[in-house]
Amino acid sequence: MAVQKLEWDTPMYRLAVAQLDQTAALMELDENIWERLRTPQRALVVSFPFRRDNYTEVDTVFGYRVQHLLTMGPTKGGVRYDEDVDMGETTALAMWMTWKCALIGLPFGGAKGGVRINPRSFSQGELQRITRRYTSEIIEMIGPDRDIPAPDLGTNEQTMAWMMDTYSQQKGHAVPGVVTGKPVEIGGSLGRRDATGRGVITCVIESCRHVGIAFEGAKIVLQGYGQVGAAAARIANALGACVVAVSDLQGGIHDPKGLDLRKVDAWVEEHGSLEGFPGVERVTNAGILELPCDVLIPAAIQNQITGENAERIRCRILAEGANGPTTLEADEILRKRGVFVVPDILANAGGVTVSYFEWVQDAQQFFWTEEEVNTRLIQIMQRAFRDVLKVAEAKAIDLRTAAMMRGIHRVAEAKRRRGVFP
Ligand code: NAD
Repeated sequence: MAVQKLEWDTPMYRLAVAQLDQTAALMELDENIWERLRTPQRALVVSFPFRRDNYTEVDTVFGYRVQHLLTMGPTKGGVRYDEDVDMGETTALAMWMTWKCALIGLPFGGAKGGVRINPRSFSQGELQRITRRYTSEIIEMIGPDRDIPAPDLGTNEQTMAWMMDTYSQQKGHAVPGVVTGKPVEIGGSLGRRDATGRGVITCVIESCRHVGIAFEGAKIVLQGYGQVGAAAARIANALGACVVAVSDLQGGIHDPKGLDLRKVDAWVEEHGSLEGFPGVERVTNAGILELPCDVLIPAAIQNQITGENAERIRCRILAEGANGPTTLEADEILRKRGVFVVPDILANAGGVTVSYFEWVQDAQQFFWTEEEVNTRLIQIMQRAFRDVLKVAEAKAIDLRTAAMMRGIHRVAEAKRRRGVFP
């Protein structure tokens, strides 16, 4: 099937479709269902104004919300604030959410949203106005039974609180279940903040066991020290691994003997970034990927490990915290070099899993302890990892293909059962 020239046709969308096509061909997937899965079911582009802090200046920005698949239940997916956000990126991310939710067995289809801005160039007041107006623009698409946003790159708990408040104001009553990843005070779940990182590390522990490395003392390198990366680093260290390098947008820090993360966190808290942290080597964001280590965790943005640098990656396990960090070309090189790759739709599924817990808790107004959340999360991640590994071994395929097969199979069966309307 040729990729048609469509609104969402960008390199990132092509990567998502190429992954789907490779897997669908291997599965001998029904061609009618295959074709339906290659494009999003609903996609909205909005442009909207917001006032700058000086009140007289009004800027216009673009926002997106894409729902890839409405077959499984409401749709679910993060909201990204980044200058590269476009229809293609949002669609690819929504598609990956579909496979991720199906792989874990959550009753959601995939969605994603975003606003094309650099969030670091706006004040909190401006970000609040952007968030509230964006929420109003997409309000008909979202809701606890329709589509449930969550934080992603450049957004956080506060963003979700503003979205929840804006939606609730319009409905006339509090609707906590419209978003997940919100503060605990307004119906958020304990354990959600660290959930993606905890899920990544659960997969890393399982991977170490599988490839025969001790997790305790394993050298870990992380690109990206945000919601996913910082939590993964903290949890890895607490469980006995040794985080030797981390980075943010400005670059990274490296200490082969291991970083003191408490000091790193205090530095970031005070200075806003890793820059200037004393007593360590500086590394670039490209260089950090090539440091020798046992486990490399890209946890920043997509398209980081490519045909250009895959030969120089020096880890035994690559666990994808970020979405889409590895290109198809790089995947092939890593496979040949024997790097054990835990794909994004498995490795970072802990976030949406606890988002699901949060949605369930909001619906029931019955809240769980942090221990309950973490125990259930770890059980689900371990089961998903082992199920995917079993498929990979039985069919002699890599984990990405095996994970996608499981996700696509669930979705395809649901589509077949529901049939075509009318
Ligand atoms: P975040 O905004 O909290 O943190 C991102 C980190 O990456 C920061 O340290 C930032 O400085 C760095 N970064 C941003 N742009 C960069 C660039 N161009 N080069 C190098 N570093 C850069 O975002 P997050 O929520 O931690 O998300 C990180 C990745 O994980 C994204 O790919 C996201 O889609 C994925 N993800 C997030 C969640 C979640 O629960 N937040 C769940 C699943 C997947």
